[in-house]
Amino acid sequence: MKQIINIALRTIGLRLVRNKTLVALEQRVASLDAVENPPDLYSDVSLRKEVLRDNIRIYWKAIDHTNRSQVPSLSIVCALCDHESALEKAEVFQSRCIFGGGELTRHRCPACGVIYGPAKMLALSDGELADEYEAHYRVYEEGDSSVHELRAFYALNPVLGGRYLNFGSGKWSETSKLLRSQGWDVWSFEPNVSAASASDPFVLRSWADLTDSRFDGIFSNNVLEHLRNPVATLRTIANSLKPDCLMVHATPCFEYLYEYTRFHLFFFTGRSKYVMADLAGLTVVDYFSDGEYMHIILSA
Ligand SMILES: [Zn+2]
Repeated sequence: MKQIINIALRTIGLRLVRNKTLVALEQRVASLDAVENPPDLYSDVSLRKEVLRDNIRIYWKAIDHTNRSQVPSLSIVCALCDHESALEKAEVFQSRCIFGGGELTRHRCPACGVIYGPAKMLALSDGELADEYEAHYRVYEEGDSSVHELRAFYALNPVLGGRYLNFGSGKWSETSKLLRSQGWDVWSFEPNVSAASASDPFVLRSWADLTDSRFDGIFSNNVLEHLRNPVATLRTIANSLKPDCLMVHATPCFEYLYEYTRFHLFFFTGRSKYVMADLAGLTVVDYFSDGEYMHIILSA
């Protein structure tokens, strides 16, 4: 019967085929396509991120290996207050970086009380540190910390009509955008290319832009602990404050918390926050803590 119908259909260029045959043919074609067009593994985003994460992990493993074979210095200089002490006088804190940065060895300065390090991060040049952040942000995201940022902002006792700066804003929080939508004149400062929102017109992207600006208040959240030279940076940004205006810097790293990342270079424990302010020529107006939310209020 099938043959008779096919003879009839041949005249108009058609042919009857069993469904089972068609399915088998489709499967065969699909398998041939797979061989001729192998998947581009590098276009797979998750795989690419996995490779980058491995690169970071292997790099720091090699650095740690090299450092272990070095003879340790007998003395150590505090990265915050420059106090030099015998290595054995500086309490050691050990952790591991959950972002592939290997071993994290930090020390507490016996003079000012700050916990600082790891030395391998503090030893990076500005360019190398920027590269570290670039590589990090390609594979990891920061969380939204708007709640704490807003708390830091309101601690400035802001007034409508004033101009405020969200220092080291990143792109993961909506704080500046939210405050602007509520009528506050809030700008962001984010010099780190991969951490800055590319489309936001209210972002200052360079230190030169910041130097040219004046604000009625500056606030930050989760920033102080990332600065390689917090004293010099506080001194610089204080120059962007109008007279008699305040800065509020919030971070849980006023205690030894969130130590599991190589990017946290300072924990301002003990009296070190007051030493830092003093060295920067600033006055501590207030220090406040509520659970893991902590801030310091500074005036120039
Ligand atoms: Zn110190």
